[in-house]
Amino acid sequence: MFIPDDKRYDKMIYNRCGKSGLKLSAVSLGFWQNFSLKNNFENMERMVHTAFNSGITHFDLANNYGNPYNGSAEENFGRILDRGMREFRDEMCISTKAGYEMWAGPYGDRNGSRKYLTASLDQSLKRMGLEYVDIFYHHVRDPETPLEETALALDNAVRQGKTLYVGISNYNRADTAEMLKIFRELRTPFIINQPSYSILNRWIEDDKLDSLALSEGFGIAVFSPLYQGFLTSKYLKGIPADSRVGRGETWIGNELNDKMIEKLNKLNDIAASRGQTLSQMALSWVLHNKAVTTVLIGASRPEQITENIGCLDRLDFTEAELAEIDRLAKM
Ligand code: NDP
Repeated sequence: MFIPDDKRYDKMIYNRCGKSGLKLSAVSLGFWQNFSLKNNFENMERMVHTAFNSGITHFDLANNYGNPYNGSAEENFGRILDRGMREFRDEMCISTKAGYEMWAGPYGDRNGSRKYLTASLDQSLKRMGLEYVDIFYHHVRDPETPLEETALALDNAVRQGKTLYVGISNYNRADTAEMLKIFRELRTPFIINQPSYSILNRWIEDDKLDSLALSEGFGIAVFSPLYQGFLTSKYLKGIPADSRVGRGETWIGNELNDKMIEKLNKLNDIAASRGQTLSQMALSWVLHNKAVTTVLIGASRPEQITENIGCLDRLDFTEAELAEIDRLAKM
């Protein structure tokens, strides 16, 4: 039985997703890590309850989350919904994706075909016990499938009532602009791109994907806004065993050298001078970019979610703070 907090909508900010009618919570919960079979179910459930009770309405999943058993994050989310949350389905915006390796053979391999996307969405709906998702994404650009085929597959999922909106993830500016043209011809409700972005990862600024989002009216959901956990107080004194880097669960662990730790400590000093933790400042910084609709946070425990939502208390930055953050990021 789940009894939600009556005050759950008091503090969260809801941003319009581009020029669509849909609003997303400024902070969303991601299910990439810590929701697999090897993780503790009670902890997962407490994280989802904490998120929902804090006004997080947007839950970001994908077919392959739950490594090493693809799909287990969706199954666990389905179980959590079964245990008292299904009645709140209409208060949630649930996203899933397909695009990376999922099942054996050519149709479940990394690709963007109509064959793969259609089958994968059906599987995701079954695992979560849903009739439809709110946003269905193509997870990563497939250079071998024509963009038109991928766009038509996403459009078809809308027409079949299996998703309300569609998105693309990890698509650069040029490919996004191409997809936009096709979606406009089809009148597909394309509303969002999902790239990585953080103080330490500026590719969407360099590529001007963020300015395209503003001029063309689609939203941006940012993944890895804490640079997979670097931009938190966790690594200021080294690498704790109980961390994503300590457990070897990230491909950027080798970037966490002495220079990076010095940089993180200096960024932490700026955060402290603003009355924030480093993770809060890193999330406020991402949300400070006007193109960003929501930050997708990962978490390994409920307390991290509560701390991170505190970013909403200080979304303003002085020019001097922004300049110093830029200088340190390039250091
Ligand atoms: P983050 O950069 O937010 O990193 C999250 C990790 O940082 C947590 O798992 C935790 O790791 C640590 N952390 C978070 N908050 C705190 C805190 N307050 N104090 C200390 N440590 C903290 O994001 P992710 O890389 O996890 O990505 C977020 C989501 O984005 C994913 O769940 C997924 O939904 C989406 N995503 C999408 C991708 C795509 O290709 N479209 C790719 C990757 C992610 P620890 O285990 O060390 O505690």
